[in-house]
Amino acid sequence: MTLTEKILARAAGKGSVKAGDNVWVKADILMTHDVCGPGTIGVFKREFGPEAKVWDRHKVVVIPDHYIFTADSKSNRNVDILRDFVREQNITYFYDVIDDPNGSWKFDPSKGPLQRQYGSQYAGVCHTALPQKGHTRPGEILFGTDSHTCMAGAYNEFATGIGNTDAGFVMGTGKLLLKVPETMHFRLEGQLQPGVMAKDIILHCIGEIGFDGATYRAMQFDGPAVKNLSMDDRTTIANMAIEAGGKNGIFECDDQTRAAVDARCRLNGTRQTYEPVERDRHESFVYELTVDLSKLEPTVACHPDPGRRQLARLMTQTQLDRAYVGSCTGGKTSDFLEFARVLRGKKVVIDTFGVPASPEIVHDLQTARWDGQTVWQILVDAGVQMTENAGCAACLGGPVDTFGRMNAPLKCISATNRNFPGRMGHRESQVFLASPATVAASALTGHITDPREYLS
Ligand code: SF4
Repeated sequence: MTLTEKILARAAGKGSVKAGDNVWVKADILMTHDVCGPGTIGVFKREFGPEAKVWDRHKVVVIPDHYIFTADSKSNRNVDILRDFVREQNITYFYDVIDDPNGSWKFDPSKGPLQRQYGSQYAGVCHTALPQKGHTRPGEILFGTDSHTCMAGAYNEFATGIGNTDAGFVMGTGKLLLKVPETMHFRLEGQLQPGVMAKDIILHCIGEIGFDGATYRAMQFDGPAVKNLSMDDRTTIANMAIEAGGKNGIFECDDQTRAAVDARCRLNGTRQTYEPVERDRHESFVYELTVDLSKLEPTVACHPDPGRRQLARLMTQTQLDRAYVGSCTGGKTSDFLEFARVLRGKKVVIDTFGVPASPEIVHDLQTARWDGQTVWQILVDAGVQMTENAGCAACLGGPVDTFGRMNAPLKCISATNRNFPGRMGHRESQVFLASPATVAASALTGHITDPREYLS
């Protein structure tokens, strides 16, 4: 069995499963957020009754993150709906925007978009928060009401996005009927060259198979190169499995995985026991691709499709209006460090926005120092508009007052993960997906630029 099949077999209480089987699996975690949470709660109450209790109050994780820093009253209200439900159900893990459990959330636009407005429990983008808060463990099943839930596959778990109806059912029963996906195999060899990042790996892979090339399939990433990829790198790759239609993305568990998971579970007091799945010789793949990382170059996915791959160095004619670094895919500490490495001591020439994925990342950037200066200040000095209000922000457009949103038909190079029409705001805007290094180099020139030109 493949890694995915092994996890599904165990969660279904079966000795083995094969692609195409339909199995009932037990959920280890159900995550929901402010956009889909209210809908999921509605389904749960409708189907299980107004007095129903969630199947396990310790396994439902609620993370507001999407439409938070906006004056849109309906969006603010969604956070309050989550808070009311958490209180009613006595749910253990809720990363509220405010500290008062009986209060209500209201964004204050008079304070501007840059200064933090959240309380001490707020955790930022759900997929970044899940591992940071100790909710991702090898061998487990994570369902989330968000398509990029697949990001947690970096931690050797089966993680996938589900709709509100399925999530309402999981909320009530802790189970879900799943068809076992076929597995596609991506063997990673060689060493990434300077200026080339994990984002380039996944853009390369999606370019090979197309934006629907992995539809309802598992994407398994392994091979000798993985040991040199950080957990941040692996999450960038697993995150974008859905951009090829993948049901999930998954990596093996190694010492790095265990160290990260153990540290986070210990820190947050979450469960520290888990059982990883390992590869065996009896894996059956529907597709195989070997990628030599040493041959990859900075890559761009052209609007409007994550599979429209092109090399950055061949796109210098593409003029840009805007650059954006942020999101679960591209807003991690390591992403901002790479972004800053290229921008340091220089000035951007187009509007450039930086949105860290979580408060912890804000803290990292405001405390990490290079030659006595914080990385945050280096970015601000380079002309980047850095907000402390960590969250999804303009990655998915959001209400019109969302920080970094494209409210006009602009062209943006972005470290985010999706570039379908209207994704970051205006329906006629264009989004070019790239690594934080490529976004930085392009922000310096105003056109798509290979970051290797700026590496000393
Ligand atoms: S940062 Fe973007 S991709 Fe990630 S969860 Fe938020 S909206 Fe979705």
